[in-house]
Amino acid sequence: MTGAGRGIGHAVAIALAHRGLDVALLGRTAEEVERTAGEIVALGRAALALRCDVSHSQEVAHASARVVAELGVPTVVVANAGIVRRARVAYMSDEDWGAVIDTNLTGVFLTARAFLPKMIEHKRGRVIAIGSISGTLGTAGQSAYCASKWGVIGFMKALAEELRATGVQAITVMPGSVDTPMLDGSGFRPQMSPEDVAKLVVYSALDAPSAMNGSAVEMFGP
Ligand code: NDP
Repeated sequence: MTGAGRGIGHAVAIALAHRGLDVALLGRTAEEVERTAGEIVALGRAALALRCDVSHSQEVAHASARVVAELGVPTVVVANAGIVRRARVAYMSDEDWGAVIDTNLTGVFLTARAFLPKMIEHKRGRVIAIGSISGTLGTAGQSAYCASKWGVIGFMKALAEELRATGVQAITVMPGSVDTPMLDGSGFRPQMSPEDVAKLVVYSALDAPSAMNGSAVEMFGP
């Protein structure tokens, strides 16, 4: 589970633990992933908090090796870590563009790649990516974010084709506006809670039929 220290990632991690899973928690802020780990241990499950920047290939490779060594080959991988940088295209810096694409899109690729060989070997498991409704539309001031989330859907659909008949599936969950720190300053009102998203992620990861491989499921709010 990446980006597990707060927001949607925190809610998903807790929900997976409630369903009986041990959870590895990856994120850049050690205190936040460690706090989530403490909550999971209090629920009676094992937790492994790891500092990891998902945009750095070597950090993801190192963290994934520890996950497999300490918790085993994952049955569920949730690529959730994401950021937003708001700027109009005419004034966007290389740094802002790169940070968003590297985290939101390359981060999903690096996370999936790190675990897939072993999951395919074991012939089971699911990769869930947290996309966004922004992967279906365009928002002024959010070109990098929208591009990254459209990219996530394309990446996950291509991955799903590669995974056919392997026993492993790839599903994307695409929330609308969620009540998390990321929404601050967006101008959008929250339409759903992190726990709402967690319910769909848990369904996609544990309950959905394998025939949902390749699905990208939108959440528009009530
Ligand atoms: P938050 O800002 O609350 O949480 C983002 C999480 O991602 C944090 O735990 C953060 O931890 C982690 N993260 C960010 N960058 C990195 C990185 N390079 N490496 C590892 N971890 C990282 O946002 P949300 O919970 O709202 O967002 C979670 C996902 O949901 C994102 O992919 C976002 O795009 C998506 N989403 C959010 C919506 C919303 O309205 N909030 C709507 C639709 C989709 P740290 O900074 O410590 O690394």
